[in-house]
Amino acid sequence: MATPLSDHDKRKQISIRGIVGVENVAELKKGFNRHLHFTLVKDRNIATPRDYYFALAHTVRDHLVGRWIRTQQFYYEADPKRVYYLSLEFYMGRTLQNTMINLGLQNASCFLDSMATLGLAAYGYGIRYEYGIFNQKIKDGWQVEEADDWLRHGNPWEKARPEYMLPVHFYGRVEDTKDGSKWVDTQVVLAMPYDTPIPGYMNNTVNTMRLWSARAPNDFNLRDFNVGDYIQAVLDRNLAENISRVLYPNDNFFEGKELRLKQEYFVVAATLQDIIRRFKTTKKGCPGRTSFESFPDKVAIQLNDTHPAMAIPELMRIFVDIEKLDWDTAWDLTRRTFAYTNHTVLPEALERWPVELMETLLPRHLQIIYQINQVHLDRIASLFPKDMDKLRKMSLIEEDGIKRVNMAHLCIVGSHAVNGVAEIHSNIVKTQVKFCFCLPMLFCILTWGKYLLQVIGEDYVKDLSLLQKLNDFVDDAAFIRDVSKVKQDNKVKFAQYLETEYKVQINPSSMFDVHVKRIHEYKRQLLNCLHIIAMYNRIRMNPSAPFVPRTVIIGGKAAPGYHMAKMIIKLITSVAEVVNNDPVVGNKLKVIFLENYRVSLAEKVIPATDLSEQISTAGTEASGTGNMKFMLNGALTIGTMDGANVEMAEEAGEENLFIFGMRVEDVEELDKKGYDAMSYYKKIPELKHVMDQITSGFFSPKNPELFKDLTEMLFKYDRFKVFADFEDYMKCQEKVSKLYQNPKEWTKMVIKNIAATGKFSSDRTITEYATEVWGVEPTDLKIPPPSEPREAIEETARALKKM
Ligand SMILES: *Cc1c(COP(=O)(O)O)cnc(C)c1O
Repeated sequence: MATPLSDHDKRKQISIRGIVGVENVAELKKGFNRHLHFTLVKDRNIATPRDYYFALAHTVRDHLVGRWIRTQQFYYEADPKRVYYLSLEFYMGRTLQNTMINLGLQNASCFLDSMATLGLAAYGYGIRYEYGIFNQKIKDGWQVEEADDWLRHGNPWEKARPEYMLPVHFYGRVEDTKDGSKWVDTQVVLAMPYDTPIPGYMNNTVNTMRLWSARAPNDFNLRDFNVGDYIQAVLDRNLAENISRVLYPNDNFFEGKELRLKQEYFVVAATLQDIIRRFKTTKKGCPGRTSFESFPDKVAIQLNDTHPAMAIPELMRIFVDIEKLDWDTAWDLTRRTFAYTNHTVLPEALERWPVELMETLLPRHLQIIYQINQVHLDRIASLFPKDMDKLRKMSLIEEDGIKRVNMAHLCIVGSHAVNGVAEIHSNIVKTQVKFCFCLPMLFCILTWGKYLLQVIGEDYVKDLSLLQKLNDFVDDAAFIRDVSKVKQDNKVKFAQYLETEYKVQINPSSMFDVHVKRIHEYKRQLLNCLHIIAMYNRIRMNPSAPFVPRTVIIGGKAAPGYHMAKMIIKLITSVAEVVNNDPVVGNKLKVIFLENYRVSLAEKVIPATDLSEQISTAGTEASGTGNMKFMLNGALTIGTMDGANVEMAEEAGEENLFIFGMRVEDVEELDKKGYDAMSYYKKIPELKHVMDQITSGFFSPKNPELFKDLTEMLFKYDRFKVFADFEDYMKCQEKVSKLYQNPKEWTKMVIKNIAATGKFSSDRTITEYATEVWGVEPTDLKIPPPSEPREAIEETARALKKM
């Protein structure tokens, strides 16, 4: 086999943007013209670019439909164990390009949708928000939010399925009858499913993502209290339909709003009805599965964070109240069905729903949670007699302050497997939760390579670990040149994009130092900002000294209610204003705040990055996904020993990353000792200078007090200890600049990094989940394409059953 690495074009594909050639051109053209005419009712004279996009999207979708239907037929025939991924958020990128690649309509490789690629009978379930994450505008240096009306022009990928609409109940009361508990007098909202196809990579598998939209029933408010006021009743339909109106934009922050709890229960209730209907509608020969004994053998449900945690009491309610199973049987089946992934260790992010709210909205579920807790606490009491402190800590109900349900604890007791998202994070989860030693549960360590990775050459597409072959080319002068040329091309392209879209000019020969992710104190954009100011001061103090030119690019959305995060954006834009307009600085340093960071922008900026900033306080970033995306796309990392950075350093060798700052143990020690920001300020002259400038209004001359809250936080109550890592960060950045002056050595290190990314494939991650958590086996069995007769499906189904 010719090594793909000797092929220049394939190396070019390291870039996410390396789209080359399109096959089946003639067929695509025909479908395209047909859709432009019949679906969009336009001709070439009046069609807009959006019309062309929609015509192409519909054409590509046509290629999916046959495979989509066949995949579902195949699942019906073969009756494999189904895997359900429940999430309140799906971070979808661009569907069109992704779909074309997976169908082989484009022969470049890009995101692989791992579950479909691995041939798993998988379903994603969530909410079809009318408004997704807001669009960010920067006005006068401040973040301004705009609604994301993403459905305005329709969505060519989704198919509404009104015939599968399901009722979801809220409020009401519990009636105890001799026939068991009954939840009565409820208000009903309907859940309407919208299906989106999820194609696997070149394997004819097309799975389904089903998102629920809230609809008011036609008799909404017309039966009881609003009798007679027809107009008002119709207007009030909005109230019910608000459930799926908008995605809550918080990042790592719990806001206990009733509407959010409604959303969480809405997706759970509709999804579980759907799962149980599918479980019962099984193959001819065993119609209407009557026993639930086999439920956990046929159904695995993955809870993405605690957001869908109400699925646990909901499944118990279905088993006990509706299907009339006894409690112990129901609980055993429930625990064997669910697995839970924890995504954060920040206490303010943990969901703790007030008991009072839950009692009003979901009275029967609260009773069930209390009963689960009773059994759970009895068990702990028997294991640790008289340890009241343990009982209090491990209870599902928190009693200090207002009573709350701890949703993480509910997930842990209601699941057979719990995992964090990186090795270090799983270890932190274990020690913080303090559960693992007394409950028979599996804490597995799975790294989250969620954002599917970029690949070189045919064989690498399905096995990223083959990238380690790149190590053979670390000293190959021609290869080094090619890699650095690819990076340079990407930088030029991104610079051109910034120029056309935002009218800002950057120098493509400067180092692109990129820090893009949600704006949060723990991610420490402030540390980066202090470094920018320190560099600026060094240039001004000594303008003739050599300086390695940098373009620092920072981007990310702040949660709309997060004051400090918004101040951080304002500080960055204010510093940028000063630095970019100082003639002494010239071409040496540029600061760009990248507006509206989102998946489609990530695809542009990440391949153009030289230096990736991953500088969270050790122990705060569960894993991160950006860190891995940058590494795979040929950036070097400056980072702390946090989240997946730890494994990146392990895989590539610590000497091939720029690791700095406190380790988790150092942070813990400093916490014990007491973090004193002022001591660093006094000790480090450069830090003092920088802070004095911010405090005195150097970057906000019209309003010297502007950053008072921010500086006060840094000095008095900085939970994330920015100053403690300042000095080491500065030194580490000097090493970065020094290496950047030697392009050959820099690129060698880049190659070593890319070669070490094999572990961070989502295919690998999903394979681990499949075998260790869900009890299913990935297959490379190909479902017969639409060109083959229907019997071929049955034949393949029989083959799968024999495996
Ligand atoms: C990858 C990604 C993230 C997550 O970045 P982290 O560095 O892991 O926080 C956030 N937003 C977008 C658009 C991304 O592509």
